[in-house]
Amino acid sequence: MSATDAEMGTAGIGGTLIRDGAVLGPRGWWNPGYVYLEQGKVRAAGAGAPPPALAEAAGRVLSARGKTVLPGLINAHTHFSQVLMRGLAGGRPLVQWLKELIWPLQNALTPEEMHLAGLLGLVENLHCGVTHVVQHHKVVRGPAFTDAVCRAAQTVGLRMTLARSWADMGANPEPAEAILEDLRRLYRAWHRPGWLEIANGPISTWRCSERTMQATHALAGEYGAPTHVHVAESQDEVRMTLELFGRRPVHWLESIGVLDQRTQVVHAVWLEESEKELLAQRGATVVHCPVSNMVLGSGIAPAADLMRRGVRVLLGTDGPASNDTQDIWETLKAAVGLARVANLDPTLLPPAQALRLITDGRTVQEGASADIIIVNVRHARAVPVHDLDSALVLCTHGCDVETVIVDGRILMEDGRVLVLDEPALLEEAEAVLRHLRRRLGWE
Ligand SMILES: [Zn+2]
Repeated sequence: MSATDAEMGTAGIGGTLIRDGAVLGPRGWWNPGYVYLEQGKVRAAGAGAPPPALAEAAGRVLSARGKTVLPGLINAHTHFSQVLMRGLAGGRPLVQWLKELIWPLQNALTPEEMHLAGLLGLVENLHCGVTHVVQHHKVVRGPAFTDAVCRAAQTVGLRMTLARSWADMGANPEPAEAILEDLRRLYRAWHRPGWLEIANGPISTWRCSERTMQATHALAGEYGAPTHVHVAESQDEVRMTLELFGRRPVHWLESIGVLDQRTQVVHAVWLEESEKELLAQRGATVVHCPVSNMVLGSGIAPAADLMRRGVRVLLGTDGPASNDTQDIWETLKAAVGLARVANLDPTLLPPAQALRLITDGRTVQEGASADIIIVNVRHARAVPVHDLDSALVLCTHGCDVETVIVDGRILMEDGRVLVLDEPALLEEAEAVLRHLRRRLGWE
């Protein structure tokens, strides 16, 4: 059967067969290879042409000739509220940038605008081949804001971790009980492991108290969910943590019992040796956001050093206010370049290893979730392709991702988003931004 048959209504009878592409299998590339998806799982994958029985059974066949077939990607840190703040990053250090631009705009958002920002952020991630996004959710002036983003994730169909941000010290602190109550509410209302995971999202080590950190980490632990926190992004943050608690950020997390396998340490730019060692010992995850760190002039995180010590490192674009895109491929290339230049070592992060930063080491294999993307490598930026890993890591942009499948469902095909009216969404975003700037007195 062909894609045309599927569009005419015969899809759904069998699974989806992707054939003739280069498939990232468990032991390297099958080129060509095939993948067969059914009931949310990879049912078969291998080298060469698909077995005739699979071709026969398929309700839908997608050709991936000249393309690569990969597991869906992970963007391990972003802030969708900042989708409406692109282009506001220039010329200020981190803390000043937050106080003068990001926080006022965040405080002006309505739940409807948050919903729109969520949709747009999710669609941008979808275009780049991200099938699981970690949304560090900052706008917590009421349940409507978190609910708006959860609804957006349901509409777009991506898997999302929503780390509910909070601060109980400094400017506009929330009472600890209100934070815990809202987290409990979110777990009851939205937590659906594998699809929409609610996580604990303390904003940073210098705005969160020891007791609330411990209580929220324990609450998330009841659901096996992570604590996702900004750590040592800038030197200012390290200084403020030292002034408040007498300890460097990672030492402080360790001292209060909040550093373990569920802890996701975002940024980790300014670490001492002993902090790197602790992260490795405790099995914490580090989320490296190299483009954001460059745009804000924060520094270069020791990502390659952490990986060498066995730390699980993932990549995040960070919010569009400090990037300004959510193109995880751009972030990947920046991670490779920064690791090499910071260490004056061109052998660091060879492409096959670097690719694991956005796949988390997953491959296309039988039994895996049917989260699959098709990425074109036959274009002027990549051809001729000597090496598929290099073509992906060094030549690919988000716009080269053509098809995205989550849980067996095609959300984007040949670059066309199927789950919503994208042109209308873009138009709405432009109109909303005009209103927002007027309300803030910026024009
Ligand atoms: Zn962030």
